[in-house]
Amino acid sequence: MSTSQVERFVTTNGTHIYRLPVEVFPNFVGYAYLLVNDACRLLVDTGSVFPQSAEDLLAALDTVRERFGEPVSLDTLDGVVISHGHIDHFGGLTPLRERIRGPIFVHELDRRVLTNFKERVVVVSKALERFLEQAGVKPALRAKLRDMYLFAKTLVTPVEHVDVLQDGQRLFGFVEVIHTPGHCPGQVCLKVDDILLSSDHVLPRTTPHLAPERITAYTGLGHYLESLDKIVTLAGDVRLTLGGHEEPIEDLEARVRAIRRSHERKLERFLELCREPRTVAELSMDHYGRREGYDILLAIEEAGAHVEYLYERGYLAIANLDEVEHASNPVLRYRRL
Ligand SMILES: [Zn+2]
Ligand SMILES: [Zn+2]
Repeated sequence: MSTSQVERFVTTNGTHIYRLPVEVFPNFVGYAYLLVNDACRLLVDTGSVFPQSAEDLLAALDTVRERFGEPVSLDTLDGVVISHGHIDHFGGLTPLRERIRGPIFVHELDRRVLTNFKERVVVVSKALERFLEQAGVKPALRAKLRDMYLFAKTLVTPVEHVDVLQDGQRLFGFVEVIHTPGHCPGQVCLKVDDILLSSDHVLPRTTPHLAPERITAYTGLGHYLESLDKIVTLAGDVRLTLGGHEEPIEDLEARVRAIRRSHERKLERFLELCREPRTVAELSMDHYGRREGYDILLAIEEAGAHVEYLYERGYLAIANLDEVEHASNPVLRYRRL
């Protein structure tokens, strides 16, 4: 790919970390990482399910062999760590599984995403529909958003066996696993000496996407902010942070502070908007404006995550309680307390 090349980073104890650029969706680049030291070769993430992504990953491994002289290939790995159960990070297991030797590791909360993707997607799509109805999204748009969400379910082949990761574990003795739920239930960051692989928990430019926890347990803004606190305690020990997308982060603490501020601003804005009773769909439109395609869903989920956070903590009340009492899945109108 012309926009980014394979880059090598070296940790204090001499582990080589290769950043492997892959086009995970059209015009959207993600990074897999290859960790190499005397004892171990570990792949972190696999790109997406699409052919271009798999092709890019194989080409990047060729580069690691040819330009950097490391004798690596998919069939000589000691393992593959999946940083979280999103398709741009684990989807590559579908086209590449046959070629990969070694165990697949994922946090226990995302285990079923890998071993039975279809079940997870179908079950979550039901919760998503309930949420969208309560958010005040009209039936035609709801059906469209649900179909978009379900689209990926046929593309992924389940992985038969995975090994689960737990918070605080030291994988192969040198990779520290830090569970940071919020963006995804099983999101992990991996610390190798003075380099942190932050996956989609902390990105340099984008504020990582959040959906309400009522759709999937262990997501949501509350968990996410706790996970930001958790990761910032490591900042003094982290020289460089490498995310699942975008460029490296030099100052982890400053970036976490900026992300936190961005959420605080959104919370204030949503509270302000709720001076008049508002649905989540209305709040999404007020704050993010008109969106197209999948971005509509992302904006409504993001608004939902912030409203959920405010409601759970008693900053918002339900304005239409009588209506809510008599309907099976009513539209919820929130007002500021
Ligand atoms: Zn993600
Ligand atoms: Zn991602």
